[in-house]
Amino acid sequence: MSAVPWVEGILHGQGTVQRRAMAKAITLLESTRTDHRRIADALLNTLLPHTGRAFRLGISGVPGVGKSTFIEALGIYLIERGHRVAVLAVDPSSSVSGGSILGDKTRMEKLSVHEHAFIRPSPSGGTLGGVAAKTREAMLVCEAAGYDVVIVETVGVGQSETAVADMTDLFCVLQLPNAGDDLQAIKKGIMELADLIVINKADLDPDAATRAQAQITSALRLLGLHGRAMADDPTMPRWQPTVLTLSAATGQGVAAFWEAVQRYRHLQEVNGALAERRRRQAAAWMWERIDAGLREAFGQHAAVRARLPALTEDVLAGRVVASVAARELLHVFLDAQADQGLPC
Ligand code: GDP
Repeated sequence: MSAVPWVEGILHGQGTVQRRAMAKAITLLESTRTDHRRIADALLNTLLPHTGRAFRLGISGVPGVGKSTFIEALGIYLIERGHRVAVLAVDPSSSVSGGSILGDKTRMEKLSVHEHAFIRPSPSGGTLGGVAAKTREAMLVCEAAGYDVVIVETVGVGQSETAVADMTDLFCVLQLPNAGDDLQAIKKGIMELADLIVINKADLDPDAATRAQAQITSALRLLGLHGRAMADDPTMPRWQPTVLTLSAATGQGVAAFWEAVQRYRHLQEVNGALAERRRRQAAAWMWERIDAGLREAFGQHAAVRARLPALTEDVLAGRVVASVAARELLHVFLDAQADQGLPC
């Protein structure tokens, strides 16, 4: 059907044939070689018409809160109900140290061997923006392969949460039943991103979990993060961020969680917020990649590199105003583009 590699396997392969094609395609997407990138772009364009039908679920929380236990419980629950579940990750530590907070191979043991599950660790290396972009592309591969629930996991450390909220339909934050933690998260602005908040490990102390649920619910109300009307149609109901208690270890609350997700999905489809969110995400993704591409080209540009060290010194020593230096470097960069006849 197509000369682009892996397309047949992804769209029509079965079992391990399909999973292998997906894994190879994602490896290709993660490559930084220019020739690989060209094939990867052709692959994405070919797959695009087959994407977009999955529900994209973002899950975050501090290490130890129970993310992998929860994703495994939810994944198995969903597969038993006929879904196919892909699990991807955005690990912010991988972009800094090449290490991994999320990449432990022993995680999600039962789910990882299931034929209707596909689990891929976080891409490593590069900036957080680069890691996030590769994960978004991997998400498209999973959708084209017919996975109808794509879970993207990250850890609770700020920027990576924003990145995952920006690529998913629903962003869920896992919390421990402990008030100090909750206030911390609210301060960091993470609650503003959350569509669902789950108090996990409710089995350890059900009363504390219920208390935390009440506290976070009222904190959300104080922050005004409840029941906002749609701007263009104030009569149209909008999703209210919801707090649930759950035990990933016993499975108690997993079904109620999925019901809440279904309610969310239905409402956001009816009021148009889901389609709007995806449109906004696609445009923001494009601009984020343009920014990153321009910055990279700028940093590699010979004339810019020749001027940069001295100008940086001048700025640091207070001899040149930073904005003047920036303009000069941009002129060096843009003039060279113009000389090559490129639009700038
Ligand atoms: P992650 O770092 O967020 O992925 O957390 P894990 O899923 O690895 O869980 C950390 C620890 O908490 C593990 O020992 C789990 O068995 C335990 N755990 C996870 N969820 C629950 C829960 O609902 N109840 C209890 N009692 N323990 C849990």
